[in-house]
Amino acid sequence: MKDSLNSKAYIHATETLGTVDGPGIRYVLFLQGCPFQCKYCHNRDSWEPNIREQKTVQDILDDYNKYKHFYKNGGLTVSGGEPLMQLPFLIDLFKEAKALGIHTALDTSGGTFNPNREQEFLELLKYTDLVMLDLKLMDDEKHKWLTGHSNVNILKFAQFVDNHNIDMYIRHVIIPEINDEEKYYKPLRDFLDTLNNVKKIELLKYHNLGIDKWAQIGYVYELPHIRPATQEDIDKASKIIIDGYKFKK
Ligand code: SF4
Repeated sequence: MKDSLNSKAYIHATETLGTVDGPGIRYVLFLQGCPFQCKYCHNRDSWEPNIREQKTVQDILDDYNKYKHFYKNGGLTVSGGEPLMQLPFLIDLFKEAKALGIHTALDTSGGTFNPNREQEFLELLKYTDLVMLDLKLMDDEKHKWLTGHSNVNILKFAQFVDNHNIDMYIRHVIIPEINDEEKYYKPLRDFLDTLNNVKKIELLKYHNLGIDKWAQIGYVYELPHIRPATQEDIDKASKIIIDGYKFKK
C-alpha cells in the first residue's frame, strides 16, 4: 500500500450526510485537536490533541466509498477541531481524494498557518478545491481575549489562499455583545474587499447549545449570559458585510 494511504490522524467524529459544510451532500470528517480556546466553542471536547481513535487515509476513503452515490454534487470536507493541526495527514488525504476525482473542502480557522512552512501549505492547496475560513474578529486584542490567540496568521492565511486562487467561503459567527457592532463589521468588510476568490460569505448565528459539553468535561463556560443571535442580528450584519460584495463567479 502507498505510504500516503497509511497516513493516520486522530478523529473526533464523522458525518456521512453533511449538508452545511460545503456544496452538495458531503462526507464530513472532524479531526481531533484545536490550538484555539474560543470562549463560545460548541465542541469543547475537540480541543485536546492526540487522543481518540486513529484512522488512516485508506480507512476514510473506504468509508467515503460506502456512501459515494450520495456525494455526486458534493464531496469530502475536513473540519475540526482544527484540521491544519494534522497537516501531513490532511495533505495525504486530499491528494488521494483528488486522485479519485473527489471534491475537497477544508473547514478551518487558519490559526496554525505559519509562513515559514509555506511549502507544506502550498502542497495542501494543490489538492484543495475550497477553503472555508472562519474569521472571528478583526480587532486583534479582542480576538486574543475571545480565542486565546492573535488573528495575524489567520489573515495571512486568507491572503495566502487568495494569492493561489483557491475558492473560499468565509464564515463569521455573529455573537451578541461581542462582535455584533458596526465597528467590528466594517473592518471585516474592508478586509474581504481585498480578496478576489470569495464565493460565499456565511454569517452564522451564535448559539449556546454547546454549554452542556463544557460542564460534562469539567469546564466553566464563560459566556452563559450571552443570548443566541437572531435573524435580525444576521440581517443587520449582512447589510455591512455582504451587501454589494463582489463575489468570485
Ligand atoms: S477554532 Fe473552532 S474548534 Fe477551535 S476552539 Fe474555536 S470554535 Fe472551537
